[in-house]
Amino acid sequence: MVKDMTGRKKRELPAYIRGRLSLDELLASRRVFQLVYEQGPLTQGEASEALGLSQGTCNLHFQRLEYDGLLRALRLQPEGRGPGRPSCHWELVREQNASLGLVFDPPHVFVQLEDFAATPLLSLDASLRACRRSEKIGEKVCVLVERAMAEVRTRRLTLRNAFAALPGVLDPASGAVKRAVNFPALEGLDVAGLMQTRFQIPTLAHSLGAAYYYGEAVDIPANSTALVIYWDLGLGFAFGRNRQLLTVQGGDEGGRTISELGHISIDAEGPPCHCGERGCIEAYAGGWVLLQKYAQQGASSLEALVALGQAGHPGFRRTLREISHLLGRHLAGAVQLFGVTEVRITGPLAPLFNYGRKAFFAGLAEIIGLHRSSGVQVQVTADSKARLLAGATRAARRAYIYPDEFNRLSRLSITLQGQRLAGN
Ligand SMILES: [Zn+2]
Repeated sequence: MVKDMTGRKKRELPAYIRGRLSLDELLASRRVFQLVYEQGPLTQGEASEALGLSQGTCNLHFQRLEYDGLLRALRLQPEGRGPGRPSCHWELVREQNASLGLVFDPPHVFVQLEDFAATPLLSLDASLRACRRSEKIGEKVCVLVERAMAEVRTRRLTLRNAFAALPGVLDPASGAVKRAVNFPALEGLDVAGLMQTRFQIPTLAHSLGAAYYYGEAVDIPANSTALVIYWDLGLGFAFGRNRQLLTVQGGDEGGRTISELGHISIDAEGPPCHCGERGCIEAYAGGWVLLQKYAQQGASSLEALVALGQAGHPGFRRTLREISHLLGRHLAGAVQLFGVTEVRITGPLAPLFNYGRKAFFAGLAEIIGLHRSSGVQVQVTADSKARLLAGATRAARRAYIYPDEFNRLSRLSITLQGQRLAGN
């Protein structure tokens, strides 16, 4: 008997499956699982045709996935076929499988438990204001996760994994916070390590941008390439295609992810940034810069900044136009490179973008021309915590079902060391 992470006893995989599926074939189970996730419910015949596997092999995969609690068989008696063999459809067990989304949105941390039907089952949050060090933040997170685990046990769920969305500059391999930038206490926080050691929950720690992206992706037309700009204390960017996050590993030693575009220097002599460099896009347009500049006009919070813009403060409106113009110019290359047709602006400062919209397009057009820039749709999305949390849990499900989606590009070295099934 082995026990799973909730302490429940788990039967061993039956010997006839273990004996007949090699390790490579166990990896192929994931393809069967993905097919059912995308197109299910499916019959054995449909799956074998789609994947080019024999029906017998498909059947073993189905049984293994059923044993794992991921799929179940619906035995249907087809009409008009008499008492023949019942046909059997396989479907995803959505309501008993769950993921956790953790969102670090300073000064708060949010934890959401969601099942595979995307139903939120529990949402928790805590303030990190009093935390001075990452250990303290870790303790706060553990208290919330502890409560979520209690819910998992009460509902008799199988918790598959977690996704943690973090701001700042992350270590590309571990997801630990390398440079916290706007919330120093996060420095050094290794959520994935903590979740593994304390709760044995496989966790992927990734950029806050991933949660923003997946939160928006639901409303972004399929087959289009989108840029999600999240504007809060910092300024972050996430690109996605066909509702999947695009990630690349950059050329410098530690590797960079696209979310760090906010910390790409556009002027070596530019204003100093919290990250230690000069002239980052964020050093012109991040919320913290605006708070510094407009403190004397009574802007003491991001909400107050939005109010200042709405009140029509002339100097501030001019600043917003300048920032938007600069964004348009400096994002134009990426817009062209990735073929972006949809731009979403989100985060607490997103409403301010409306005052700079024209300037943004003017900046874009200066670099890529009027024709290309007019093909880009820009939408401002109201800042919604619910959307952000749903984005984090959606990212968690995708990380479980498509582990390669996050590994393939941003963590090439890990992928080369060998694939493994998430959760194992
Ligand atoms: Zn910077």
